[in-house]
Amino acid sequence: MELYRQPPECKFCAKRVGVRKHGKSRTNLQRYLCTSCGKTFQIDYIYQAYQIEMKQKIKQLYLKGESITNICNDLGVRQLTVRRSVAELEAVA
Ligand SMILES: [Zn+2]
Repeated sequence: MELYRQPPECKFCAKRVGVRKHGKSRTNLQRYLCTSCGKTFQIDYIYQAYQIEMKQKIKQLYLKGESITNICNDLGVRQLTVRRSVAELEAVA
């Protein structure tokens, strides 16, 4: 996954510069240290937050009547990602 290759944004101050690898957690997740604010965080947080945010955007666009193809192009996500979010939306509705 591309997201894992570059240093993530700091969860606390949202800076990417100065974020370093900081060992692994007990569950073997990569930990990061932000040298800007001195806090540590795990990447899965970031990734989950990103996914949740992306899903919300997808759902919003879908509810506005955008097609799946348009949503993919707008947000730069895969069709599968959009389809999954849309399926969730329909399951709830
Ligand atoms: Zn920070």
